[in-house]
Amino acid sequence: DQLGPTVAVGEILVEIMATSVGDGFCEPIALVGPYPSGAPAIFIDQCARIGGAAAMIGAVGSDDFGRLNVGRLAADGADVSAIRVDPDYPTGSAFVRYRAGGSRDFVYNIATSAAARFGWSAEVEALVGRAGHLHVMGSALSMKSAVEVIERALPIVKARGGTLSLDPNLRKEIVYDAATERRFRDLVAAADLILPSGDELARAAGVDGEAAAVARLLETGVKEIALKRGAAGATVFTRHTPPVFAPAFQVEEVDPTGAGDCFGGAYVACRRLGMGIEAALTYASAAGARNVTRRGPMEGAGSRAELDAFIAETARHA
Ligand code: ATP
Ligand code: MG
Repeated sequence: DQLGPTVAVGEILVEIMATSVGDGFCEPIALVGPYPSGAPAIFIDQCARIGGAAAMIGAVGSDDFGRLNVGRLAADGADVSAIRVDPDYPTGSAFVRYRAGGSRDFVYNIATSAAARFGWSAEVEALVGRAGHLHVMGSALSMKSAVEVIERALPIVKARGGTLSLDPNLRKEIVYDAATERRFRDLVAAADLILPSGDELARAAGVDGEAAAVARLLETGVKEIALKRGAAGATVFTRHTPPVFAPAFQVEEVDPTGAGDCFGGAYVACRRLGMGIEAALTYASAAGARNVTRRGPMEGAGSRAELDAFIAETARHA
């Protein structure tokens, strides 16, 4: 952490959720929100809350949705100096409704909102010049502004002795263009830490099967893999140590959105604060589990004290 803050780049959104389970938004329904959201913002918020130095690059509109987001991140201790306020476009938004089976319907406004309208600025350059770690969400690779910043920032952060983490976070139902696939490959090759869930592991490795995919990634230079398994827990693999498994905490799942992002934010922050794999994985698992107990994508992000209390009072799955 002494090298400088962990920096995340990408979409900052509000989420507005249906209060009822069902299909879509084709009739008037009760909604609740706005909640601060956006995968990179959730990650950086949890990173800051647990005590890691953290900073966000992105953009919001000059509106209440933007003020909600920037206010939350700042209150939780994140550096918001490189969040641009767009004078013309509104803050990005996602309307979300859970279906009976657990899948979700969305109405998004990201690409045509302030969320996508940032780039390399004096503020971004100043932040990147003192950053110690860059975190990339694969989903950001479909955003031109994020790609521009990531590609300029990465060599600067690496040259300072900083590190890179990657949450593949690619939706498997979306087919990405060749340039995006290539960028993804390059980031996998440059990553010190990868945080995949489910079939993102195989996708990142380009090989099927957990053991083979893990072996391939470690061979290609990835130092650490934190594999997220939802309510089945998480495992960290490294080249030189045996795998470390952490069973999930037993919680009542109210809203699964943001679990992976909180897990990642806590894991990266704890490792950068000097914790060992086992301790960092415990905090990360607690952060993911605690977040699913609250409605809203980052409402359950926990401080170190809150996570200590959660760990002390919550049983783990066998
Ligand atoms: P997201 O849906 O946010 O993209 P993800 O797929 O990246 O999430 P998950 O595996 O769902 O990541 O969650 C990350 C971690 O959070 C898990 O490895 C687990 O430790 C914890 N977690 C997630 N869901 C639950 C749950 N229902 N009960 C307990 N712990 C959970
Ligand atoms: Mg994920």
